[in-house]
Amino acid sequence: MSTSAASPTVCLQCTRELRADEPHIAVQDGVFCESCAGKLQAELARIERSQSEGVNYPLSAVGGVLGGALGVLAWWGFTVMTKISFGLVAVVIGVAVGQGVLRLGGYRRALGLQVLSAAIATVAFGVASFLVNRSFYNMAAVEQGFEILPLVPPLPLVIEVLKMGASPMDLLFLGIVLYEAWRIPAPLRLT
Ligand SMILES: [Zn+2]
Repeated sequence: MSTSAASPTVCLQCTRELRADEPHIAVQDGVFCESCAGKLQAELARIERSQSEGVNYPLSAVGGVLGGALGVLAWWGFTVMTKISFGLVAVVIGVAVGQGVLRLGGYRRALGLQVLSAAIATVAFGVASFLVNRSFYNMAAVEQGFEILPLVPPLPLVIEVLKMGASPMDLLFLGIVLYEAWRIPAPLRLT
């Protein structure tokens, strides 16, 4: 016997006592009458839609790029300081881009923002991978007396540098980065 069974027939919203056979919606804390449940559903649906209203793509993009830049610096800095290429730290990029899109965009949430966030995160991951690989290459180059790589080499060389440290794990890390960047500006489901 649970105590909550003592008053299961009073609507939580309008406090009206429900007839024994009256249809109702049961929730964790009690029941709603059909009319109140309908109104609450409509209100939740309205709030859900309003998340995607007034999206400011330029400002959201600026936020994403700023977040991405911070994430890239964090991963690159971590790698250069510790001399350990730990790809999982790249996840910071996905979180930073997603948060940048969300915050500078005024906490709007929309599918378009998710696409924007994922696109910026992909580019940021590429830039960070290049910088990390370049740093490792240059460390070895200095030791062995090779010529070091410039900060912005020609494109074919950029691709060579990206291929240098590539491993199947990078795809996993990119996947986690994309997951975070995609998830953060996603509209919240209320209904
Ligand atoms: Zn009610």
